[in-house]
Amino acid sequence: MPSIAYLLKNRIFNQETLVHLLEADEQDTRLIFAESAAIRQKYVGNKVYLRGLIELSNICDKDCLYCGIRKSNHKCDRYVVTDDEIARAIRYAVETKMGSVVIQSGELQTNNFVERMNKLLAMIREIGKGELGVTLSCGEQTEETYRHWFNLGATRYLLRIESSNEALYYKIHPKNEKHDFNVRLNALRVLKSVGYQTGTGVMIGLPFQTLNDLASDLLFMRDMDIDMCGMGPYIEHEDTPLYEYRETLMPFEQRLTLSMKMIALLRIIMKDVNIASTTALQALDKNGRVQALKIGANVMMPNITPGLYRNNYSLYLNKPGMDEEAEDSVRNLERQVSEAGCEVGYGQRGDAVHFSRRTKT
Ligand code: SF4
Repeated sequence: MPSIAYLLKNRIFNQETLVHLLEADEQDTRLIFAESAAIRQKYVGNKVYLRGLIELSNICDKDCLYCGIRKSNHKCDRYVVTDDEIARAIRYAVETKMGSVVIQSGELQTNNFVERMNKLLAMIREIGKGELGVTLSCGEQTEETYRHWFNLGATRYLLRIESSNEALYYKIHPKNEKHDFNVRLNALRVLKSVGYQTGTGVMIGLPFQTLNDLASDLLFMRDMDIDMCGMGPYIEHEDTPLYEYRETLMPFEQRLTLSMKMIALLRIIMKDVNIASTTALQALDKNGRVQALKIGANVMMPNITPGLYRNNYSLYLNKPGMDEEAEDSVRNLERQVSEAGCEVGYGQRGDAVHFSRRTKT
């Protein structure tokens, strides 16, 4: 196998070389990070775009085996943020010039949920005067719903595949109609065809996962020609079935390093996509998000969900920011952005450069 320096210089990225890059030792990892930082600077600049995150509800109809808010976790207190609270959060995002918001929710396909989203999107458009970018992360929906929400002003959609290896997917999800790998894959294709800036992502350090799987995930994102990515380390939650495999997991430090390598490699391979510096990175290391920004991430999502609900959107253990109010969350992110030598893109939507390029006729 050629050296890491040679692979980077000649841009030789395939299944085999990506595994080799993921295995890089400390010295070679520095080369990877230097390359990803340079590519980030060249193709997307040093701006970091903020998306005010609103965790609308933790009520979910699905049972993903890793998730703390899965339907079968009866220890989880369920909540729904009220319209007034959402309106306040949106106003806050506008006043603080965040440029965009993300509405994330447990997955529901009921008429009530779809209609509530319709109403909220209209409200966001009104408060944001049509200038606020809107990303949705509300799971699998029908094409008609995706289209309707797009027409109501949502222009980005994040639907994480979690693993692009079908066999591994079914080790972390129940194998049934509600958790169908091909339905999820198809949903990603539909989102693109509707016109969304489409994002996906994976968990890193899952039980049963190999470096081969992660290399395939990178190629999957490249071949799917996604516009945005949110990925981070798998962090176990004690009230989930996957917790029984906790002894088989790699230590947190390794999961963090591997996550950084994945972010850097995605930046190197896809150059101009938007990559989020996720909360899960921060859960493993207080400098996690700063590190990710330094090596290629360019999006951050300050949590502006009213503090009272934060503890209940507990996807994994020790999720950071559970006791923060929106103001603290924003101040912390600002500090992290400047520590990373970047600048906040206040008032800018920060659409993915990749999207403009791929949709240019
Ligand atoms: S990962 Fe998403 S869809 Fe799965 S149980 Fe959790 S909230 Fe629901």
